[in-house]
Amino acid sequence: MRVLITGAAGFLGSHLVDRFLAEGYEVVGVDNYITGASDNLAHLDGDDRFRLIEHDISEPLFVESSLDGVLHFASPASPVDYLEFPIQTLKVGGPGTHHALGLARRHGARFLLASTSEVYGDPQIHPQPEDYWGNVNPVGPRGVYDEAKRYAEAMTMAYRRAHGLDTRIVRIFNTYGTRMRPGDGRVVSNFIVQGLRGEPMTVYGDGTQTRSFCHVDDEVEGIIRLYNSSHPGPVNIGNPDEFTIRELVDMVMEETGSTVAPTFLPLPEDDPVVRRPDISVARRELGWSPAIDLRTGLRRTIPYFADLLNQTDARARTLSGAGR
Ligand code: UDP
Repeated sequence: MRVLITGAAGFLGSHLVDRFLAEGYEVVGVDNYITGASDNLAHLDGDDRFRLIEHDISEPLFVESSLDGVLHFASPASPVDYLEFPIQTLKVGGPGTHHALGLARRHGARFLLASTSEVYGDPQIHPQPEDYWGNVNPVGPRGVYDEAKRYAEAMTMAYRRAHGLDTRIVRIFNTYGTRMRPGDGRVVSNFIVQGLRGEPMTVYGDGTQTRSFCHVDDEVEGIIRLYNSSHPGPVNIGNPDEFTIRELVDMVMEETGSTVAPTFLPLPEDDPVVRRPDISVARRELGWSPAIDLRTGLRRTIPYFADLLNQTDARARTLSGAGR
């Protein structure tokens, strides 16, 4: 059995690669490294069941070897990243999804789309069930990501209806864990890095907005269950425990030992006021619910960032020493 995963060098993509390899699959990864990192796959050097094709899936891709599954995870996913790469974000969700679907069709493979809670925009229904159509501003700065993913869902359903392709759609809510980039810009990685460096945590707005944070191990388990099920989705996979950003600050301060007061910065445009998944479908159809609470998940994640920062600091010391 062989699967192809786009965005394989990314945060979620690389964890999925590991999971499929652990389940005995061969894995073909695809990444153009605009937000992915080869370090996320360095531990697979020499593993002949894995190979990486450096390629932008916004351009067509032909693969000779047979494929049983295609999982489309390529995309900038942090607001900071998709604001920096707005056109690439639209392209990977638009033509990129089309090419990944075409690849699945050519190989008779199952297709799984990584969609997002952002399809609900700034939601007027709370928590968000899958049958809520959302409240998205198409011309706002986040529209590049939200509309790309909405288009990607529509294209996936078109392939299902028109070509009988075996498809799945997962709507991923805020996820955190190892292999996020320290400069990724998302709130959990930002706060951990700031806490470890003794810098003030940057709260956008007044910090009363809410998010619900899922540890990557739970997220991957949910995605795998959806992939192996016969449910086409969309299915929300996220942790329904909801926190204000102020509550997150307090917890990350406790867990990193930081005592520096947070700083307040302007709220980004169209930043959703609340977000929390309704996971009834995942519970019923996949028998899935998250097992890792936020504090436990932070304790699993903080040492990863502490190591990274130590390495970065050590490199900086060597470089400044060499320059003297
Ligand atoms: N946020 C914050 N400080 C940061 C980064 C993010 O207060 O340094 C806020 C952001 O405004 C949003 C929430 O945290 O309300 C989650 O932001 P993130 O970028 O992680 O993802 P989003 O859920 O907005 O896609």
